[in-house]
Amino acid sequence: MLTIDGSFGEGGGQILRSAITLAVVTGRPCQIDKIRARRPKSGLMRQHLTAVQAAARICDAQLNGAAIGSARLTFEPQAVRAGEYEFSVGTAGSTTLVLQTVLLPLLTAGEPSRIVLQGGTHNPFAPPFDFLEKTWLPFINRMGPTVRARLERPGFYPAGGGRLVVEIEPADRLHGFELLERGAPTQRNARAVVANLPRHIAERETALIRQRLDWPAESVQIEELSDPPGPGNVVMISLGYEHVTEVFTAFGERTRSAEAVADDAVRQCRAYLTHSAPAGEHLTDQLLLPLAVAGAGAFRSTGLSPHAETNLHVIRQFLDVPITTAPDATGGVRVQIG
Ligand code: ATP
Repeated sequence: MLTIDGSFGEGGGQILRSAITLAVVTGRPCQIDKIRARRPKSGLMRQHLTAVQAAARICDAQLNGAAIGSARLTFEPQAVRAGEYEFSVGTAGSTTLVLQTVLLPLLTAGEPSRIVLQGGTHNPFAPPFDFLEKTWLPFINRMGPTVRARLERPGFYPAGGGRLVVEIEPADRLHGFELLERGAPTQRNARAVVANLPRHIAERETALIRQRLDWPAESVQIEELSDPPGPGNVVMISLGYEHVTEVFTAFGERTRSAEAVADDAVRQCRAYLTHSAPAGEHLTDQLLLPLAVAGAGAFRSTGLSPHAETNLHVIRQFLDVPITTAPDATGGVRVQIG
């Protein structure tokens, strides 16, 4: 059984999720020790536990140590089963991270699948639904399968209650791709969402974005939601190009002014604009696993975070695919797989 050290590098939840996904994809049993050892509250949290249990469901895996707070887990997969699944994180834990744990094996599972996920859909430190839909899934769809994701109800931290429906038409196998240039700009847009909070928060956010980025009124939108439980505020700036769309996200918090929230998203957007590489920090993290499983591809990244380096370390323990990373002439990093 392959043993994965959960305290390596960043020592966070990604080690666990990547290891589990790769165990399902390769059919190799694994044990993960020292789970999330470098996080203030180590061990399995609700979102991680849901991801592990979801992965176990799609391949009838034998699980040991799957409990909140657990620092060690063994996972023995069997064959992947396409089908209809419903996974509920139970809290506002991220549904998109749970989805990313199970999606890859279902992309080549022979039959279509449908997954309903409940929990948080716009969480700090996780891909918000909009990033999943606009930034990440287009690349998954370039690899052969067809995946459609629909946000039925947004869920914000801490109340949760969001609902996401994902339909998967599998492919025979995954094809790699190259993402070396952004291509010409195609669209730009900023959205400030308030759920059960005063509209003026979103007005102040969009005003700051327009002023800082010098954008016209038609490039910004305000969305007021009263359906999701609990308060929520998120700002998303989207930059679309021929070959990639990036989404920069910042979340409102009780102790943070609307201007500070908008400024956070603007800062991320401006940092991306100082580079020419197409894949930003988060997209880089999230392209590594699918391309490694496909066994081929290349992309240019604005830089490799410790998160991405840690992810690479896990991937290399499961897959015998050459992955090289090298600085390129523009100050970014070229990642070559296969
Ligand atoms: P832990 O609680 O142990 O930190 P975690 O499981 O919550 O772990 P990470 O291991 O930090 O989370 O992984 C978070 C994932 O979410 C990464 O793939 C990262 O790229 C992605 N992510 C975080 N913030 C964003 C964002 N604003 N947009 C897109 N993706 C994001």
